[in-house]
Amino acid sequence: MTITDTHTHLYSEAFNEDRTEVIQRAIDKNVKRFFIPAIDSETTQAMYDLEKRFPENIFLMMGLHPTSVSESVEEELKHVEEELAKRKFYAVGEIGIDLYWDKSFFETQRKAFKRQIQLAKKHKLPIVIHCREAFDEVFEVLEEEKGEDLYGIFHCFTGTKAQAEQAISYNMKLGIGGVATFKNGKIDQFLNEIDLKHIVLETDSPYLAPKPYRGKRNESAYVVKVVEKLSDIYKVSLEEIAAQTTQNSKDVFGI
Ligand SMILES: [Zn+2]
Repeated sequence: MTITDTHTHLYSEAFNEDRTEVIQRAIDKNVKRFFIPAIDSETTQAMYDLEKRFPENIFLMMGLHPTSVSESVEEELKHVEEELAKRKFYAVGEIGIDLYWDKSFFETQRKAFKRQIQLAKKHKLPIVIHCREAFDEVFEVLEEEKGEDLYGIFHCFTGTKAQAEQAISYNMKLGIGGVATFKNGKIDQFLNEIDLKHIVLETDSPYLAPKPYRGKRNESAYVVKVVEKLSDIYKVSLEEIAAQTTQNSKDVFGI
């Protein structure tokens, strides 16, 4: 059995004390493939270091996170563009719009999102979307950019069934993580109406730990709790959840 964590910030300082143990604990639970979203130029070196230590298991993305969009946006986008031209990445991410923390850079976030979608298309890569309190704004950009060359993952999907269907209509898989195990998470109530072929697993660690670890530091081994929850929702075995979602991740990332 192989489980794929399609979204984990393993380079985060939260893992500085025990990163190797964290990765080993995950591998011991069959979580063997880790896709690593970028935040901004400050995280690039840490991502490369991580890849060097675990080349079999670590797959990097490149991109500018919406909450890192500020006055320095041009330099940051230039960095993304240069790194993408330099070497192999598996997605452009995480990119998108976040109006939860700060609305003042909305227009800049929107433009950075759009430009990075175009970069992804140029490099024939999927995108990994971060969307917080911005479904309408994100969908508006996807509507403008839709087509066969637009595809990817709607990371940490927490929307309604209608929003899930809309995301899928733009060739997006839904990244499902700890929120599916929360009592008030809501998505567990309609997920069984969404075909499993549209679902990928993620932790977003060190954030969003699933029940019973909610509120604690999250780590990739805990994605097993999400596998259990989905097995419950879809009434299929743990092995089938792992196999199908890993296949879906291969379809998106090409590895
Ligand atoms: Zn993330």
